[in-house]
Amino acid sequence: MLSANNLKVDSGLEKLPCKMGIFFLIPIFMIHSPILNYKTGIVVMKSSIPVIHMKAAVLVSVGKIAIKNVDDPVADPGGLVIGVKACGICSTDVKMWRKGQRDLRCPRILGHEVVGVVIESRTDAFSAGDRVQIFPGVVCGECRNCRTGRDNLCSKIKIIGFSYDGGFAEMMKVPPESVRMAGLNRIPSTLGYEKATLTEPLACCLNCAEKLGISPDDTVLILGAGTMGLLNASIAKLRGARVLVAEVMRERTELAKKAGADRVIDPGSEDLVEVVHEETDGRGADAIIPAFGGAAALYPVFDLLAKGGRLCLFSGLPDSESIKNIDLNSIHYEEKMLVGAYGCTSSHNRMAINLLAKDLSLDWLTVRAVRLDDIEEGLRSAEEKKQLRAVVTN
Ligand SMILES: [Zn+2]
Ligand SMILES: [Zn+2]
Repeated sequence: MLSANNLKVDSGLEKLPCKMGIFFLIPIFMIHSPILNYKTGIVVMKSSIPVIHMKAAVLVSVGKIAIKNVDDPVADPGGLVIGVKACGICSTDVKMWRKGQRDLRCPRILGHEVVGVVIESRTDAFSAGDRVQIFPGVVCGECRNCRTGRDNLCSKIKIIGFSYDGGFAEMMKVPPESVRMAGLNRIPSTLGYEKATLTEPLACCLNCAEKLGISPDDTVLILGAGTMGLLNASIAKLRGARVLVAEVMRERTELAKKAGADRVIDPGSEDLVEVVHEETDGRGADAIIPAFGGAAALYPVFDLLAKGGRLCLFSGLPDSESIKNIDLNSIHYEEKMLVGAYGCTSSHNRMAINLLAKDLSLDWLTVRAVRLDDIEEGLRSAEEKKQLRAVVTN
């Protein structure tokens, strides 16, 4: 039975910003009932009816995003609610805002590169105050792909920020399936929230490097030096490869070098095929990563590839475009290989967060912090490539 002696509010709440702590505690004590975690002795306050209204950026319809007050999320049994600390603005968010997406239903709170602090827990696995990163895939754990470690291809996958409300809000509900299927990672104490938002994008690059089997013998060509191109360059370098990056924006040349490029090629003023062949003794690149939407259609990727080389389709192509002039005979006679990488698995997320905490400083990657109220401006500046990376912070 609960008594005044054993009713203890988790000290994690004290770690919340002052404003937020008062915001939660006063109304919670007035109308909420306590839930005791018997293992830890921690009491978490839980409401059956959401009464406080958090602020969220809601995609009301394609093209229209608005700051609204919506019901606070309430944790399901086995799940939890986090106070969002930071959420990356990704080109996928821009695409969903402008054009929609096949799995997207409005109204929806976007944002899938989410980190935060647990504020309500209905699972023994996490307690209020834990700092966590969320793998956006909500997967079944039972289908063949889940059982063989490819949960990004789960037959029942749902995605936070697409089919569940995401992180462009003050709080976010994490479904029990995410907790059960190891979709949450504790953020190491050495890693700040803004940098921790890179976990998911970096995990996508780890998936790509794995699919390509990048090794120290390889020369890897990366098309584009946006955030994903630069993260791919860092991973290729970490795996010991020689790295070529093609980028037309002059201001990104230095960044590409800092990320690990041995040679940056400007396809606007240089002949890309010629330079790649020069740099590889006429062989061509052993692995190619088109790192922005449409890159695989824009460049003659098969001409750039060495015999036995691998091309990874890392980002989607617009419906109206396809890779032109694929010589299918080169797949047979020259053993060129075409592979795909779609998002990342939960295990890539675990690897990525550890890399960010230890082996990858990425201190060249400047991040612009955007307040939730300014989300539309943040999306627009991401669309116009005004900065390398923007993150919504609370
Ligand atoms: Zn993303
Ligand atoms: Zn599955």
